[in-house]
Order: sequence, then C-alpha cells, then structure tokens
Amino acid sequence: MDKKITRREALKGMFFASVGLASGGAILRSCTSSGNSSSASAASAAIPWTEAPEGSKVDTRTWSKMGETLGLLGLGCMRLPSLPSEGGQGGFGHGGHLDQEAVNQMIDYAIAHGVNYFDTAPAYGESEVVTGKALSRHPRESYKIATKMSNMAFGRQEPTLEAAKTMFETSLKNLQVDYVDFFLLHNVTNIDEFNKRFRDNGVFDYILEQKAAGRIKHLGFSFHGSNATLPPLVDLYDWGLVQIQLNYADWKDMPANWGPPQGETSSEYLYNYLTEKGIPVLVMEPVKGGALANVSDALAGVMRERHPDLTPAGNALTFVGSLPNVMITLSGMSNMEQLKENVSIFTGFEPFDDKEMAFMQTVADLYKSNVHIPCTACSYCMPCPHDVNIPGNFRVFNTASDSLNIPDPEKKDKNYNKKKKAFLKLYNELDKGARADQCVTCNACLPKCPQHISIPDQLKMISDLVAKL
Ligand code: SF4
Ligand code: SF4
Repeated sequence: MDKKITRREALKGMFFASVGLASGGAILRSCTSSGNSSSASAASAAIPWTEAPEGSKVDTRTWSKMGETLGLLGLGCMRLPSLPSEGGQGGFGHGGHLDQEAVNQMIDYAIAHGVNYFDTAPAYGESEVVTGKALSRHPRESYKIATKMSNMAFGRQEPTLEAAKTMFETSLKNLQVDYVDFFLLHNVTNIDEFNKRFRDNGVFDYILEQKAAGRIKHLGFSFHGSNATLPPLVDLYDWGLVQIQLNYADWKDMPANWGPPQGETSSEYLYNYLTEKGIPVLVMEPVKGGALANVSDALAGVMRERHPDLTPAGNALTFVGSLPNVMITLSGMSNMEQLKENVSIFTGFEPFDDKEMAFMQTVADLYKSNVHIPCTACSYCMPCPHDVNIPGNFRVFNTASDSLNIPDPEKKDKNYNKKKKAFLKLYNELDKGARADQCVTCNACLPKCPQHISIPDQLKMISDLVAKL
C-alpha cells in the first residue's frame, strides 16, 4: 500500500462529492462503459470509478506454503471477447470465435497492472489457444497459468486415462508452456463422482506423476458440490488450493447451480472449512455470473449511499477480496472496461471491515427478497386457458421488488405494514379470476415464453406471498 495510491485518494476531489449521491439521480462518471456486465443497469453504470494510474499494480498476497505471490485479482478466461462480427462478448458458450487482438490487449493491460493469474480450461472453447498465444508474448515468469482437467461427460470426452493424457498434453501445447502453475480437477461435486472421473481409471495417479515431474506446480479442484460433500474430497489429498463459488448473495445460502440439487450449501461454510484446513481459496462467480453487477436501481442506490465510490460489482468484489484466505478473486471478463474497473478496485485495495461485511449481508437479504422476474410483458404466453393475467401478476410483483418494497412475511421489517398495504392494493387491482392463485399449473404457457421464465413457479411464489400476507 505504501507507494500506491488508494482508490479513495484517486477519487478525491472528483465530482462525486458535489452531486446528490444518495438521491439516485443521474451522476456523471469518468469512464463510460457498463462496467462488469454488458447490460449493467442504469444505476450501476451511473456510478463513477477511475482507472488505476499507469505504473500502479493490484495488491498482492503471499502464500508461503506454496511459495507464490499473487495479485488479488485473477483474469478468468472463460468469457473472453469474441470477434466484433460475432457480437464481441464472451466467446465460450456463445459459439463465436475469440478476438485474438482484443485478448492480447487485455492480457497486456492485466500484466502491466500486476495481474499474474490467468484461468482457463479445455472446456472453454478456444480459450486455451488464444490465452496461450497472448501470454507467450510475455516472459514466462511474469504470469501464472491455471488450467483444468475438464473430463466431465459433456458428450464429448469420456473420463478415460488415454483421453486425460491427451487433454493434458493438448493443454500444454495450446498454452505454449512446459508446465502449468495451477492445475485443477474441473467441476468436482462429490467423492463418488471424483472416483469415477479420476481414481478408478488411473487419471489421478497420472496427474500426480505429472506433478512429481514438475509439469504441474500446484494441484487443486474446482468445487460445485454442497457443504456435506466437500470434506471427503478435502481429506483425499494435500491440496494446494480449492476453487469455490463465493459471493455476498450466496454467503449464507447458495442455490444449487449445476446438475441435480446438491443439498445445503453456503459460501460461508465452504470458505470457513477450507480456511480451517489451511487451504487457500480461489473464488469463482464473485459477481454471481454478472447478476450482482446488474441489480435493481433501488438496490444499487442502497449500496451507493454507503459506498459512493463503488459500483454494485465493486461492492461484490470488495466483499470477496476482504476475506483474508481468498487467494485470488477470479472474474470472467469480456472487455477492457470490465478489466479496468476490476483492476481499479484491487489497486490500493481497501477491504471492508466487519461492519461493512455485515452491511453486505443486509444487501444480500434485500437482493434475495426482491427478485426481479425478467418479464418483458410481450404477452406471447397469453391467453392463459384459465384466464390468469400472467404479465399483469409479474408487473405487480416487479413494481414492488424494483423499489425494494416486497413485504417480508416474517414481519422483521419495520415498514412491513406499509409495504403490505401497497403490495395488496396493486395485487387487488387485478381481476379476481386473473390473479396468480388461479393458476392450475397446466404448463401450457411454459414453452411460449421467450425469456424462459418458469411461469407457474413464479405465479405460485406470488400467490404464496399473498396468502402469507
Ligand atoms: S400454467 Fe398457469 S398460467 Fe400457465 S397456462 Fe396454465 S394455468 Fe395459465
Ligand atoms: S411470454 Fe414471458 S416475457 Fe412474455 S409476457 Fe409472458 S411471461 Fe412475460
């Protein structure tokens, strides 16, 4: 911190002190992009952040057991920019070819600003090849590369030893390196699945041989299971690191993400367990796939009032970086503006104290209890054979949620009565026969919704809420 300017010093004297920050009104910003999401809300886009000065570097942490000093921010290479003719955003999963020139520029900027951890995987389409090309233009000691053993059954790659050997050799070739710094067994959920993919077929022994030969420096796994399935995996080996999903919204309770429900899960449990075991934590999804960059204007306003110099994404990243056993906060970035904002947050990093961490749990509660249903009122789902006014019910709910006015049936909120009255007034304006409780779950509407909204589930959520009120 000594030679670096802090974020707040950098912002000192900027215009934000003189405008109505808490009002939620329009505020100018020094950079014009949408920050951590291509579709960031007006509220998040309106908050100023300033680019880290030339020559400055992100803060680092030293991990003595593994003998590494790493920048707090890691560049996730899963959503690298695709060619402008193919949309320009997030190559993997979007079917486009990656834009090598744009990736080169991002990686050059990252390395110049002290970001030295680059995360890719065979499962990320062209990512390994493009990342390898960009990194190979820099001295090998200036970056750490992390890749994975992606032998999940995606219909392409069976978990055989031969396939694993080919995958590992291809990764080294793609990345143009003769060793990888961090090697992770990709998307592990529980011990049975781990045994099937890595132990019964001899793949784990092969990986340990590669490690002994110096072709892998540190070994870990990326975890997508539950609180209960983590400990047996941790006990298997002296892991160098474990990658988990961690963000303020999932801190107390994380919904199942991939595959069948995994059981009770929270970032807090996973983080604390790994910390007790002395294993550094690598964080994925710090902004929940962009969702925490893209919160409602009202929720962005709550955060802005408390932390005027942070965007919603900045709040999410600062929450993660404030946890001392977080080795790297990995953010999948799709353009230079996202990278610059993230670098600015971790340059002269100012962690949240206990009070601020607790405040973020208040934000998490508001986020969870004021879900926005992404209905565009297109009416393709209409008419409902049972006369339910689908978009009308969703409009009522969203009107309340977007202003953080969903009444909490637990009545913990001091404004409960006011919120309840306002919500029921809106709901009761719908014809009785058109309200959410008239849905018989026939599912006729489901395939018609271009937003893929689970319409009957959302209607049930609304009618359950009304019943509780
Ligand atoms: S699932 Fe509910 S809302 Fe959808 S068509 Fe059937 S009754 Fe109507
Ligand atoms: S089709 Fe989907 S987005 Fe359109 S009105 Fe119905 S629920 Fe809303």
